[in-house]
Amino acid sequence: MEERNVDVAIIGSGTAGLNAMGQVRRAGKSFVLINGGEPGTTCARVGCMPSKVMIQVAEDYHRRTHLGKYGVDGHQAMTLDVAEAMEHVQDLRDTFVDRVLGNSTDNLPEDLFIQDYAKFVEPTLLEVAGQRVRAKSVVVATGSRPLVPGPWKAFGERVLTTDDIFELENLPASMAVIGLGTIGLELGQSLHRLGVDVTGFDQLETIAGTQDPEVSKCAIDLMNKEFPVHLGRTAEIALEGDMLRVTAGDKSALVDRVLCSIGRVPNIENLGLENLGVALDARGVPKYDRSSMQVGDLPVYIAGDVNGERQILHEAGDEGKIAGYNAARDEIASFRRKAPLFINFCDPNICAVGARWNQLDPETTAVGQINFAPVGRALIMGKNRGVLRVYADKKSGVILGSEMIGPKGENLAHLLCWCIEQGLTVGRLLRMPFYHPVIEEALQAALYDLYGKVEAKNEGLTELERI
Ligand SMILES: Cc1cc2nc3c(=O)[nH]c(=O)nc-3n(C[C@H](O)[C@H](O)[C@H](O)COP(=O)(O)OP(=O)(O)OC[C@H]3O[C@@H](n4cnc5c(N)ncnc54)[C@H](O)[C@@H]3O)c2cc1C
Repeated sequence: MEERNVDVAIIGSGTAGLNAMGQVRRAGKSFVLINGGEPGTTCARVGCMPSKVMIQVAEDYHRRTHLGKYGVDGHQAMTLDVAEAMEHVQDLRDTFVDRVLGNSTDNLPEDLFIQDYAKFVEPTLLEVAGQRVRAKSVVVATGSRPLVPGPWKAFGERVLTTDDIFELENLPASMAVIGLGTIGLELGQSLHRLGVDVTGFDQLETIAGTQDPEVSKCAIDLMNKEFPVHLGRTAEIALEGDMLRVTAGDKSALVDRVLCSIGRVPNIENLGLENLGVALDARGVPKYDRSSMQVGDLPVYIAGDVNGERQILHEAGDEGKIAGYNAARDEIASFRRKAPLFINFCDPNICAVGARWNQLDPETTAVGQINFAPVGRALIMGKNRGVLRVYADKKSGVILGSEMIGPKGENLAHLLCWCIEQGLTVGRLLRMPFYHPVIEEALQAALYDLYGKVEAKNEGLTELERI
């Protein structure tokens, strides 16, 4: 078998792999990029981007239900051409994919981009497309795919995943969404708003990965007002005539299709990870250091969704950069990872920042809270629903984290995340300007509540505070 030598072999041309490639190129090392399956990244093809287009269309159409409140005529008569809406999702999706390909693999010479599945023979020897690649180091960035339980596969096209849903030319009349994590909830609510009769199921007692009990309760209440959400029981599927019967405890729904969004599994089978000679965890993923992305003490790095740690885009990008940087060097560097930031783009947004509720010590943590109901700007927008909770260290007042469900949560979460990155205290934040009337005034109110509960107070008075 023909064998070629490179400095770095990168397996997977998704966000993590492409970021790794950027670092390897910058270091002037030779490389080969290997991708099995469709190129164009999960984000652009079947992930972040088509889902956000669908959410936007659904939210715009849903807005008609508000228009009657101030005399907009004819809103009741508005209808949606679902086929045209889906075509729009696909058109924009194609634009995003073309853009990714145009900026990455389209311009790579054929010998640098192998389109096939790779397999480890040894830690630095790969087999792919009938040839062997000997690399000084290897980056594994093979991503993840939707998990579908074996028996559900027998239902064929009746059970959909995020790999199929954006391809539909039309939407079914009724659907069960099984799994109400971030992906299931975002899509479930959108499908409902696009006119599908949706029933949601999750075996957990929470949705969207919420941990804070106040946020969790509010999220369930708000979503339940839009479509039925059945929690706490494992859902089963059975064929009933032409339809699917989904049952969870004493709850059930008869539906045309199921969206299976119960989680994602790493793309590792047939990758030969057992040939690395290191311990693999229960999912078959090797142990690695998350500040260097190194697997054991091998010249092998693992980045992005495949490691299953934070399956979101900016983390895949960062991990790819770290992996590529280290793969291109003899000395291994450790990198501080950014404060966690999670955004669920359902309406209202559900977000988590920094330390999570279950990690906090109730003895040493103060919690500030604001409900969005009376917040002026939220009321004007007709979106005054939700709750914002901010956590700080009781003694020092340093902001630790936050969980929220509320309007423009995506923006508030960023703001708080940046403050956590800077190590700011609640007192320091309250000395920042807050415009009026903006949604950030909700954050200001939560911070005032929090300030009253922390020991650390601002020292001295600013000029303004003196008068
Ligand atoms: C519906 C949905 C919505 C999402 N929304 C958001 C969002 O709003 N915000 C956010 O931050 N994140 C979101 N995500 C997550 C985000 O898309 C992923 O975290 C990110 O795309 C992962 O990138 P990656 O490089 O790890 O994997 P991928 O982009 O999946 O790349 C992996 C590549 O490796 C290839 N491959 C697999 N096995 C092999 C092999 N053996 N040999 C060679 N190649 C192989 C695959 O075909 C693929 O091309 C969403 C995901 C989904 C599914």
